[in-house]
Amino acid sequence: MTEIKTQLHTVLDTIKSATNKAQRPHQSVQLLAVSKTWPADDLRKIAEMGQHCFGENYLQEALTKIAALSDLDLEWHFIGPIQSNKTKDIAAHFDWVQSIDRIKIARRLSDQRPLNVDKLNICIQVNIDDEASKSGVNSDEVLNLAEQISQLDNLELRGLMIIPQKTDDVQKQQSSFHKAQALFSQLAALYPSVDTLSMGMSGDMEAAIAQGSTMVRIGTALFGNRHTLTGQ
Ligand SMILES: *Cc1c(COP(=O)(O)O)cnc(C)c1O
Repeated sequence: MTEIKTQLHTVLDTIKSATNKAQRPHQSVQLLAVSKTWPADDLRKIAEMGQHCFGENYLQEALTKIAALSDLDLEWHFIGPIQSNKTKDIAAHFDWVQSIDRIKIARRLSDQRPLNVDKLNICIQVNIDDEASKSGVNSDEVLNLAEQISQLDNLELRGLMIIPQKTDDVQKQQSSFHKAQALFSQLAALYPSVDTLSMGMSGDMEAAIAQGSTMVRIGTALFGNRHTLTGQ
């Protein structure tokens, strides 16, 4: 078996044991394979083993892979920063966008979503620790943005995407995840379509699952260390 296939098994096992520990069903946490910088052939290897959801940060790179893998039934999530001039292609080629932090971008995506496909699934990116130079809305702006997004015809509000501050302090990390979970519960109580708390990466997926994550976004633990970052 190739290394990537072995790593997929390891990640799925980690998710399983973390859900067990949290006394949650295994299926309550989805794996998003974050494939930025990796070639389509690497994605194909784990797609053939049943991996369905892939996350990409850079539009041009993503479009090449989406085309190369169009013979497979995959779900594509855009998780990177979005400039206005990219919304048309994102609306046309992705199933989910997790990195929404401005109504202007949401409006463009809704306007540009082709009518012959399902609504575009949306997560609001939250800057849960109110870090100064980080993208995402602050916690106190989430409900307002959600209300505006919920009125757009071609978008479906699905939940929140969280990137907590980098820290080795386990208590701080837990407190960020816990805050995110509380905000998510509040949102889910208001909008029946909200079912996704996208939280947890290679270094903190177990802690995120313990605090209620429903989707972990895993790059390094699946594909290995990224050597280069491609530009847009
Ligand atoms: C790159 C990236 C990830 C994956 O991070 P790893 O630590 O490699 O698992 C998850 N989420 C976002 C938004 C990313 O940009």
